[in-house]
Amino acid sequence: MKIGISSCLLGTMCRYDGGHSKDKFILNELGKYFDFKPFCPEKIIFATPREAIRLVKKDEKIKVKTSNTNIDVTSKVKNISEELVSQIEEDELCGFIFKSKSPTCGMQRVKVYKENKGVPENSEVGIFAGEVKDKYPLLPTEEEGRLGDAWLRENFLMQIFAYKNIFEFLKYEASFKKLVDFHTSYKYLIYSKSHISYKKLGNIVANHKKLNLKEVLEKYKLCFLETIYKKGSILKTYNILLHIFGYFKKHISKDEKKEILDSVEEFKQGIIPLIAVVKILNLYVTRFDIKYLKIQKFLNPYPKELALRSTIKAYK
Ligand code: SF4
Repeated sequence: MKIGISSCLLGTMCRYDGGHSKDKFILNELGKYFDFKPFCPEKIIFATPREAIRLVKKDEKIKVKTSNTNIDVTSKVKNISEELVSQIEEDELCGFIFKSKSPTCGMQRVKVYKENKGVPENSEVGIFAGEVKDKYPLLPTEEEGRLGDAWLRENFLMQIFAYKNIFEFLKYEASFKKLVDFHTSYKYLIYSKSHISYKKLGNIVANHKKLNLKEVLEKYKLCFLETIYKKGSILKTYNILLHIFGYFKKHISKDEKKEILDSVEEFKQGIIPLIAVVKILNLYVTRFDIKYLKIQKFLNPYPKELALRSTIKAYK
């Protein structure tokens, strides 16, 4: 699985000062699961080392200027960004990790200076990151700094795996029957993101208007990508856990019921992490051989070794 990344995060010495911004979590942990496709727009234009650049606002327009010599390099940075963005589709990238705060790669809250001096505001998007977001608004994207937040990290990685799965499904397996199978496996994960999307996607699959396969798949893809883009919440996840519990509650003892419901409540109250509850539920799914639940991506959305559900901070 390939994801795009700002080169300096991999330890490449491509920053303006000849340094890098190596990120250990990305390299050591995510590196086990992803192939990285590095991008450094600034190095291509200016080489390394180089004078730093910054965003400058004048008459509501954003320009890119060199920090000391004040040379306008906006079109250079824009042109290379547009050129590189087209590679994302060619390379079939499933996501992108940007370097925060950079006037080129920052995804949000990038410093923008006023032409006539004054205090800069942290309010802009880097030029390259902006181009990527414009062209691929539903591509999973994050900044390295935000990946330190367990909730954002879980949402981002879940989104990447789902993104890859839908594109692989569309590429190799698409048929009405396979769409039903795909949708069935994602039902609870979709439900944990949005009840409205759950209904919408169900209607698309039901295809009451008798559209052809291509039209149905296109609609499904768009709605699915919009759904996995949404962040999950503790309450929606709690509701899914209760739904799953409903499958076998009639077949277990009073004490077993109490133990499961106590765990679900403890998850809701932020006392135990989701993985603890999922482990218990999975035991019963296996014990009663509930095939419908065994295939649910909600119970296994990504490799368990990523341990994304092992902290209570992963849900809020
Ligand atoms: S932030 Fe982007 S442009 Fe700047 S050094 Fe890193 S990869 Fe290159």
